[in-house]
Amino acid sequence: MPLKAPGLRSTPVQGTTDPEWCHTDPGMRGGLQHRRTTCHWLGAAGPGWRTADRDLGGDRGMTDDIFDESYSEKEGPKPDRRYVWRNIVLMSLLHVGGLYGLWLIPAAKPVTLAWGFLCFLLSALGVTAGAHRLWSHRSYKAGLPLRIFLAIANSMAFQNDIYEWARDHRVHHKFSETDADPHNATRGFFFSHVGWLLVRKHPDVIEKGRKLDLADLKADKVVMFQRRFYKLSVVAMCFLFPTLVPWCFWGESLRNSFFLPAILRYMLVLNATWLVNSAAHMFGNRPYDRNINPRENRLVTFGALGEGFHNYHHTFPFDYSTSEFGWHYNFTTAFIDLMCLLGLASDRKKVSKETILARKIRTGDGSHKSG
Ligand SMILES: [Zn+2]
Ligand SMILES: [Zn+2]
Repeated sequence: MPLKAPGLRSTPVQGTTDPEWCHTDPGMRGGLQHRRTTCHWLGAAGPGWRTADRDLGGDRGMTDDIFDESYSEKEGPKPDRRYVWRNIVLMSLLHVGGLYGLWLIPAAKPVTLAWGFLCFLLSALGVTAGAHRLWSHRSYKAGLPLRIFLAIANSMAFQNDIYEWARDHRVHHKFSETDADPHNATRGFFFSHVGWLLVRKHPDVIEKGRKLDLADLKADKVVMFQRRFYKLSVVAMCFLFPTLVPWCFWGESLRNSFFLPAILRYMLVLNATWLVNSAAHMFGNRPYDRNINPRENRLVTFGALGEGFHNYHHTFPFDYSTSEFGWHYNFTTAFIDLMCLLGLASDRKKVSKETILARKIRTGDGSHKSG
């Protein structure tokens, strides 16, 4: 049964004069463009647009990652900023440790560096192919072995458990660039990058997060198992495993084994992920929807294994590739395709070329014409 995405209406709203174009009011807040679309007209927008957007948005069993334009921020002063000192101290220590790891690179064995890179790829996949594309967006299906692998890789990335990550990420898509967005980019680069983890959440983030439908996550035994044993799995996978392998198997010093594949690698994966929330919401073109902040950012795409096609991703959050260009700069897409080839994954959601072109013409900034 195809569900209808909230916020997408199949008939023009009264007062809309042009059936092919909806009135949008790009208000400016904090120097960033903020979307206020008052209607969506799905008819006559281009071949396949209606079917693809509605069905792909709905047949995943959830639509809580579709932007909800009915939300408006509360009037009056913003709540006071309350610092989370534990996180401030831990994040500071991590970054000092990561910088020390950078300094140790010349003293490390090449095989240790290769191991660190492999750990980077594994933990990043636990976020991009796991928490993001599989569990937050349901953009493809994965069998039990792959879900177990991705959950372990996700613990290696130590970015909150899958359940919490996916909940925060759905709120991010649904209430993008508002008070209910956990890393609201209109609050500046630092806040959307790491600052949001150093202060208490805005009350609207908590309130809207509680109202999301997370039944699919609760029904996934792998997700709930990882949540139950999260701390233990993080100690084992994020710190012990990356450290012990080089120390035990090729006699790397304990210092290099800890500060390179564990600490530096962890710091790099965190920052690569955070750049999607900060840089990819500020710098780059908007070929698919010029009325939203998320951008196409090549640098972020490279570092975050294909997650920097962010204007595309917020326009079509249900596309498993988060891009229209397949494997181009997109290691995560290649990984998911390989998993499908091996029979470990299936049911990849993809938006048709016709739909994408129609959307570019309808709401894009025109940058696609220049390549
Ligand atoms: Zn985003
Ligand atoms: Zn997303």
